[in-house]
Amino acid sequence: MEDNIFLKIIRKEIPKDFLYEDDEILAFNDIHPIAPVHVLIIPTKPIPSIAHMEENDAEIVGKMFWVAQKIARDLKISEKGYKLLIRVGRDGGQEVPHLHLHLIGGARLREDIRPA
Ligand code: 5GP
Repeated sequence: MEDNIFLKIIRKEIPKDFLYEDDEILAFNDIHPIAPVHVLIIPTKPIPSIAHMEENDAEIVGKMFWVAQKIARDLKISEKGYKLLIRVGRDGGQEVPHLHLHLIGGARLREDIRPA
Protein backbone atom coordinates (compact mmCIF):
# COMPACT_ATOMS: atom_id res chain seq x y z
CA MET A 1 0.00 0.00 0.00
CA GLU A 2 1.25 3.48 -0.89
CA ASP A 3 2.16 5.79 1.94
CA ASN A 4 0.10 8.90 2.62
CA ILE A 5 -0.12 11.74 5.13
CA PHE A 6 -2.75 10.05 7.33
CA LEU A 7 -0.66 6.87 7.62
CA LYS A 8 2.20 9.09 8.83
CA ILE A 9 -0.15 10.62 11.42
CA ILE A 10 -1.23 7.10 12.52
CA ARG A 11 2.43 6.11 12.89
CA LYS A 12 2.90 9.28 15.01
CA GLU A 13 5.62 10.51 12.66
CA ILE A 14 3.86 13.87 12.59
CA PRO A 15 3.05 15.47 15.95
CA LYS A 16 -0.71 16.03 16.30
CA ASP A 17 -3.17 16.96 18.99
CA PHE A 18 -5.98 14.43 18.91
CA LEU A 19 -9.58 15.25 19.81
CA TYR A 20 -10.14 11.52 20.14
CA GLU A 21 -7.68 8.65 20.20
CA ASP A 22 -7.90 4.92 20.75
CA ASP A 23 -6.46 1.81 19.07
CA GLU A 24 -9.03 1.95 16.26
CA ILE A 25 -9.83 5.63 15.68
CA LEU A 26 -8.03 8.98 15.64
CA ALA A 27 -9.60 12.43 15.28
CA PHE A 28 -7.74 15.68 14.64
CA ASN A 29 -8.32 19.13 13.17
CA ASP A 30 -8.16 19.53 9.39
CA ILE A 31 -5.07 21.51 8.37
CA HIS A 32 -7.20 23.71 6.03
CA PRO A 33 -10.51 24.12 7.89
CA ILE A 34 -13.50 25.23 5.78
CA ALA A 35 -15.62 26.09 8.85
CA PRO A 36 -15.04 26.97 12.53
CA VAL A 37 -15.20 23.24 13.31
CA HIS A 38 -13.51 20.92 10.80
CA VAL A 39 -12.37 17.63 12.28
CA LEU A 40 -11.20 14.49 10.48
CA ILE A 41 -12.04 11.10 11.95
CA ILE A 42 -9.96 8.21 10.60
CA PRO A 43 -9.57 4.49 11.30
CA THR A 44 -6.07 3.32 12.26
CA LYS A 45 -6.64 0.34 9.95
CA PRO A 46 -5.40 1.25 6.45
CA ILE A 47 -8.73 1.30 4.55
CA PRO A 48 -8.16 3.49 1.44
CA SER A 49 -11.82 4.50 1.00
CA ILE A 50 -15.42 3.40 1.52
CA ALA A 51 -15.08 1.68 -1.87
CA HIS A 52 -12.47 -0.60 -0.27
CA MET A 53 -14.54 -1.35 2.83
CA GLU A 54 -15.12 -5.01 3.64
CA GLU A 55 -18.02 -6.47 5.62
CA ASN A 56 -15.92 -6.83 8.76
CA ASP A 57 -15.08 -3.09 8.58
CA ALA A 58 -18.74 -2.19 9.27
CA GLU A 59 -18.14 -1.93 13.02
CA ILE A 60 -15.15 0.40 12.67
CA VAL A 61 -16.99 2.61 10.16
CA GLY A 62 -19.96 2.76 12.54
CA LYS A 63 -17.58 3.72 15.34
CA MET A 64 -16.22 6.61 13.22
CA PHE A 65 -19.76 8.07 13.25
CA TRP A 66 -20.10 7.47 16.98
CA VAL A 67 -16.81 9.35 17.56
CA ALA A 68 -18.03 12.18 15.29
CA GLN A 69 -21.21 12.75 17.30
CA LYS A 70 -19.23 12.55 20.55
CA ILE A 71 -16.79 15.24 19.35
CA ALA A 72 -19.73 17.36 18.13
CA ARG A 73 -21.17 17.18 21.67
CA ASP A 74 -17.78 17.98 23.24
CA LEU A 75 -17.44 21.02 20.94
CA LYS A 76 -21.04 22.07 21.72
CA ILE A 77 -22.29 22.09 18.12
CA SER A 78 -24.61 19.13 18.54
CA GLU A 79 -27.77 21.16 19.11
CA LYS A 80 -27.31 23.53 16.14
CA GLY A 81 -26.17 20.73 13.85
CA TYR A 82 -23.32 19.97 11.49
CA LYS A 83 -22.40 17.99 8.39
CA LEU A 84 -20.67 14.64 8.13
CA LEU A 85 -18.95 14.05 4.81
CA ILE A 86 -17.08 11.14 3.26
CA ARG A 87 -15.61 11.63 -0.20
CA VAL A 88 -15.04 8.50 -2.29
CA GLY A 89 -12.61 8.35 -5.19
CA ARG A 90 -11.95 10.82 -7.98
CA ASP A 91 -15.50 11.94 -8.77
CA GLY A 92 -16.20 12.22 -5.06
CA GLY A 93 -13.20 14.56 -4.72
CA GLN A 94 -11.22 12.36 -2.32
CA GLU A 95 -7.65 13.67 -2.02
CA VAL A 96 -6.09 11.50 0.66
CA PRO A 97 -6.35 7.75 -0.05
CA HIS A 98 -7.12 6.77 3.55
CA LEU A 99 -10.75 6.63 4.69
CA HIS A 100 -11.76 9.78 6.60
CA LEU A 101 -14.99 11.28 7.87
CA HIS A 102 -15.23 15.09 7.90
CA LEU A 103 -17.11 16.69 10.82
CA ILE A 104 -17.92 20.23 9.69
CA GLY A 105 -19.86 22.83 11.66
CA GLY A 106 -19.88 25.84 13.91
CA ALA A 107 -21.64 27.92 11.22
CA ARG A 108 -24.62 27.63 8.87
CA LEU A 109 -23.33 25.60 5.91
CA ARG A 110 -24.07 25.97 2.20
CA GLU A 111 -25.35 23.12 0.06
CA ASP A 112 -23.07 22.79 -2.96
CA ILE A 113 -22.58 19.13 -3.82
CA ARG A 114 -24.11 19.26 -7.32
CA PRO A 115 -21.88 18.37 -10.31
CA ALA A 116 -19.28 20.93 -11.38
P1 5GP B 1 -10.62 14.78 1.10
O1 5GP B 1 -10.64 15.81 0.02
O2 5GP B 1 -9.72 13.61 0.76
O3 5GP B 1 -12.00 14.35 1.51
O4 5GP B 1 -10.05 15.49 2.37
C1 5GP B 1 -8.70 15.53 2.71
C2 5GP B 1 -8.56 16.53 3.83
O5 5GP B 1 -7.35 16.33 4.47
C3 5GP B 1 -8.60 17.98 3.34
O6 5GP B 1 -9.66 18.66 3.98
C4 5GP B 1 -7.22 18.51 3.75
O7 5GP B 1 -7.28 19.86 4.19
C5 5GP B 1 -6.83 17.56 4.86
N1 5GP B 1 -5.40 17.39 5.02
C6 5GP B 1 -4.49 17.16 4.05
N2 5GP B 1 -3.25 17.02 4.56
C7 5GP B 1 -3.37 17.18 5.90
C8 5GP B 1 -2.42 17.17 6.98
O8 5GP B 1 -1.22 16.98 6.81
N3 5GP B 1 -2.92 17.36 8.23
C9 5GP B 1 -4.25 17.56 8.45
N4 5GP B 1 -4.63 17.75 9.72
N5 5GP B 1 -5.17 17.59 7.46
C10 5GP B 1 -4.74 17.41 6.19
